[in-house]
Amino acid sequence: MPPRGPSTPPPATSARGNRGGMKAKAKAKMQTLRPAPAKRTCHKIPPPPGMPKVRKVGANRYGCPHEGCNKDYSRAYDVKHHYWDHVDDKLIWVCMECFGVYTRYDNALKHFKLVHNREALDEDILMIQCSADQIALWGL
Ligand SMILES: [Zn+2]
Ligand SMILES: [Zn+2]
Repeated sequence: MPPRGPSTPPPATSARGNRGGMKAKAKAKMQTLRPAPAKRTCHKIPPPPGMPKVRKVGANRYGCPHEGCNKDYSRAYDVKHHYWDHVDDKLIWVCMECFGVYTRYDNALKHFKLVHNREALDEDILMIQCSADQIALWGL
């Protein structure tokens, strides 16, 4: 058994008669790069900290777990949104262009479009959780 050479050249592959293909490949890709559409903001409101589990009260109904509250919604998310009414902390939205403060996200969006003349992106509006005291300080 002869010892194997350390560098046996690989068998040369025939590359003849392939000119047509090369020409097609060389064709420059002139695909116009469209700018990505502005990312639409979709701020999900997080459930308040310490919120109990949403109660399922029907096939497609979700009840508020707060004692004495009988509200129910078709989406669990709406219950979480509603539950903020039961806690002292509130969510506010701050415009990062002018630091205007809004208690509703859609109002912050409207403000941004009107005043800053473009659709707000995720980074343009900051969501902050703050206490009732802070809310009072801001006079909201
Ligand atoms: Zn409730
Ligand atoms: Zn602003």
